Amino acid sequence: MIEAGCVQADDRQAGYAHRRIDLMSWTTYRDRLLDDPIIFLPVGALEQHGPHLPMGCDAILAAAITARVAEALDGLQLPALTYGYKSQARSGGGQTFPGTTSLDGATLTSLVRDIIREVARHGGRRIAIVNGHVENQWFLTEGIDLALRELASSNRQMQIVRCEYWNYTPQAILKGIFAGAFPGVDLEHAALLETSMMLALHPELVAMDAIPEDATGQFPAHDSYPHHSRGVPESGVLAPARAATAAVGITLIDSTVAEMVSALAREFA
Ligand SMILES: [Zn+2]
Repeated sequence: MIEAGCVQADDRQAGYAHRRIDLMSWTTYRDRLLDDPIIFLPVGALEQHGPHLPMGCDAILAAAITARVAEALDGLQLPALTYGYKSQARSGGGQTFPGTTSLDGATLTSLVRDIIREVARHGGRRIAIVNGHVENQWFLTEGIDLALRELASSNRQMQIVRCEYWNYTPQAILKGIFAGAFPGVDLEHAALLETSMMLALHPELVAMDAIPEDATGQFPAHDSYPHHSRGVPESGVLAPARAATAAVGITLIDSTVAEMVSALAREFA
């Protein structure tokens, strides 16, 4: 158990369970909707994350960060979507790994549209979709857009934000962690950032001795189809992860959550 920062006393989000819509009765949910809470939807993927991290990493991290932000903003949390859009070579290693289990774009778009429509039917008016998987971004946007278009005729007022949690991590924190050698979010797949945050949250799910020695992925500036794995390190880890520590993970989570809380508080004010 890590005893530092906001990760303290959190084992599998137990401290935040009272915000989980899937763990409440419908009557509790109905009553809490009267306060017009922000309703959070974390989204991840089932995707290879190297030999040392679980494949549910993106959803686990998105849900953990969401739980903390929802706590700070008195929001409610929907169950995470634990499947995402197809892995791309330059950001997730691509679709060639066993276990990577991906949705068509239209499927993800429909899931998001349907969930928004249902929340609107319940009377929810404010939604924040917290994305943990690079490849999901535009399909989430499409789901939001289709839902809003559908709801426009029904007089239901909705405000929706789509965010990628990593965009809130302060640059100064990244500079400190990478000493100026930050490879970029895409290449950070299963690498220092995700491994550190998983060490902070779920050390029992990280196999430190399986962290590979592979070099950083080398890619052209384009994507190729059909998918191939040229340039993808054999391990699926796209940048070095060996320096990962729980302390780095706590710093990342705390600073990211703090920024996200103030940004979303302003947005939904
Ligand atoms: Zn990931």
